Amino acid sequence: MSEITEYETVIGLEIHVQLQTQTKMFCGCPLEFGAPPNTHTCPVCLGLPGALPVTNAEAIHFGLMMGMALGSELAPRSIFHRKNYFYPDSPKAYQISQYDEPLCLGGQLGDVRIHRVHLEEDAAKLVHIGASGRLHASDASIVDFNRCGTPLAEIVTEPDLRDATVAAEWLRMLRTTLRALGVSDVNMEEGSLRCDANISIRPVGTSELGTKTELKNMNSFRYIERGIRAEVARQTAIVRGGGRVEQETLHFDPRTEAITSLRSKEEAHDYRYFPEPDLTPVAISSEMLDRARAALPELPLARAERFASEHGLNEESAHLLAFRSELGDYFEEAHAGNGVEPQPLANWVANELMPRLGADVDPADSQVAPAALAKLVSMVGAKEVTGAGARQVLDRLVAEGGDPVAIVEAEGLGAVGGADSLAPIVTAALDANPDVAEKLRGGDMKPIGVIVGFVMKETKGRADGKEITRLVREQLGL
Ligand code: ADP
Ligand code: MG
Ligand code: ZN
Repeated sequence: MSEITEYETVIGLEIHVQLQTQTKMFCGCPLEFGAPPNTHTCPVCLGLPGALPVTNAEAIHFGLMMGMALGSELAPRSIFHRKNYFYPDSPKAYQISQYDEPLCLGGQLGDVRIHRVHLEEDAAKLVHIGASGRLHASDASIVDFNRCGTPLAEIVTEPDLRDATVAAEWLRMLRTTLRALGVSDVNMEEGSLRCDANISIRPVGTSELGTKTELKNMNSFRYIERGIRAEVARQTAIVRGGGRVEQETLHFDPRTEAITSLRSKEEAHDYRYFPEPDLTPVAISSEMLDRARAALPELPLARAERFASEHGLNEESAHLLAFRSELGDYFEEAHAGNGVEPQPLANWVANELMPRLGADVDPADSQVAPAALAKLVSMVGAKEVTGAGARQVLDRLVAEGGDPVAIVEAEGLGAVGGADSLAPIVTAALDANPDVAEKLRGGDMKPIGVIVGFVMKETKGRADGKEITRLVREQLGL
């Protein structure tokens, strides 16, 4: 009986990042998303004869920052090439890009090695207009040259990813890192971050790479995950059916999940790269390196490690707070000087505050002052208020802000704590439920809920469940 071969997925990503510079890559036109079409153009970015490009120093600066953040080797000298092809979105009929001498070589982010990072210019934006005014049946196409010549960095990974979900997660980590660097607004919907996924499969246990296909231009994390999954299923079905995967460039339609071919290997362009004669090589000076280094913020991975080592946060919390930098900032402000235990504070930020605010809200913009949350969490730790009581206080803080101590007092939410006040109530509960007390005494702890319920009712939920259990054991001599 023959065994069914299992396949593993191999994925490498190519990510285009639109850099948030003041001006375009090789001319002085401003970058402004959403500006009226064709208002930011000049002879250089329109590709008029005789116009001369000049490399944008800020784009190089951002490229160096990215290279440093990714641990790349920074090329002391890199050059631009012309990548020749004809398409209506490219008026020069070539794109200026880096080819064999990119700005950054190698590197790593998390578990994924970086192959290279290079700089290039974006093409114009084509909008296809049908008779219905809808955006696909192409009765007419119009071109917006505002995007033409805007700076892009292309980040190419090694084929180190093995799973669609992990690929999407890794891309999130890259996006957060780029946002922390401030080199791009990394807005996927507006196309500031676009991802091509290269995908192949191979029998588990083998190391040779299979033939890859390339899924083009996916602009959401969900589509990337679903697109890769659909393509892996397609390739697996081909191979299991005795066929061979063909190298081609594909489009994934997120509405129908259909994968269609854009072009096969035979139709691949020969770009006839040659060095751009109008640009001088980019030579990196030590001043440029110093300036890029000085501009580097603490990066999310380093921050997660610091949260773990400095505050003893568990991995999940450290990661969440480091990769959602606004949560990390809020946490650090709440923690500083307020003497609150870091892990409970992190838990309250993640599990209580954020769900109340909504996932996309920056807690700094909320009514809950960081010091107020710190105080509330400290009060829970000191058993001055129960978890349930504190959650009510937090509801109030979220709605109208304020001071947790005052709210606890005003609402009478203070924990009936301390053995002194709680012990007589526990005694009363045991007296009122002799049969339950008997079972507990005999070692059957199941009905303890009856006692806890009694005490909670008496204290209007302001007692600590653990403390009740402790007192029950104490009073029954268990
Ligand atoms: P191409 O010359 O077709 O552009 P590259 O070697 O430049 O291919 O690789 C482009 C991207 O594809 C990189 O991210 C790389 O990691 C990935 N890649 C290369 N080979 C494979 C493969 N067999 N399976 C999956 N990804 C791959
Ligand atoms: Mg390539
Ligand atoms: Zn221009």
